Amino acid sequence: MSAQDTSASLVQQRFNDVTARLHRAVADSKREPHSVKLLAVSKMQTPQQVAELYALGQRAFGENYLQQALEKQQALSSLDIEWHFIGPIQSNKTRDIAHRFAWVHSVDREKVAKRLSDQRPNDMPPLQLCIQVNVSGEESKSGVTAEALPALAASIAELPRVQLRGLMALPAPTSDSAAQHQPFKKLRALMAQLNEQLPSITLDTLSMGMSGDMEAAIDEGATIVRVGTALFGPRPATA
Ligand SMILES: *Cc1c(COP(=O)(O)O)cnc(C)c1O
Repeated sequence: MSAQDTSASLVQQRFNDVTARLHRAVADSKREPHSVKLLAVSKMQTPQQVAELYALGQRAFGENYLQQALEKQQALSSLDIEWHFIGPIQSNKTRDIAHRFAWVHSVDREKVAKRLSDQRPNDMPPLQLCIQVNVSGEESKSGVTAEALPALAASIAELPRVQLRGLMALPAPTSDSAAQHQPFKKLRALMAQLNEQLPSITLDTLSMGMSGDMEAAIDEGATIVRVGTALFGPRPATA
């Protein structure tokens, strides 16, 4: 066996493992079979690794670092990939995001949402957005507070070239199952409240759950799980 065969079969095995975990979690939670989408988080991974997963049928890929993402997109422009931006957004970088991505999960302020809407080309479908919420008081500065969420959601819902789809959370990792459930439960409740309070919008997306906690997230209603390490193996430390 050549080195390439070995790596291809390892990718296949990880992909099989992750999809089996996802399907089992969906069944255990008594949810509809196709109600959870797998987003492959390819930050720090090479175009080659993305192409290998694509060859196995994966189409949605998530990136955190814009410059890296743009290079990868260029290298893979012949593939029909649905790109999701999931990293922190600097407001002077919104143009490339508005032009090159189908989804953005990490919007946490109005200024960024407005720029994305203004800069979304008219010949593309509306940019699909999630608001990142800080549900666990995590040390990370990203994410709007639960208190500020309704006003932000109401203002984003008015923007013409973006479609507000739901909420995203990135809780601090923990191996304790009860502690894993708690922020996901909270995110689900926040989306239900928004759907009641704002009749003009219908949110249907909960972007939550990663390699270590996707089962808990699916049990709490995740519709997109963002999985990196379990699909690609450990990430290289630097770009
Ligand atoms: C890196 C990252 C992930 C994937 O994390 P893994 O633990 O590798 O599965 C998911 N979401 C966001 C926002 C990330 O930055």
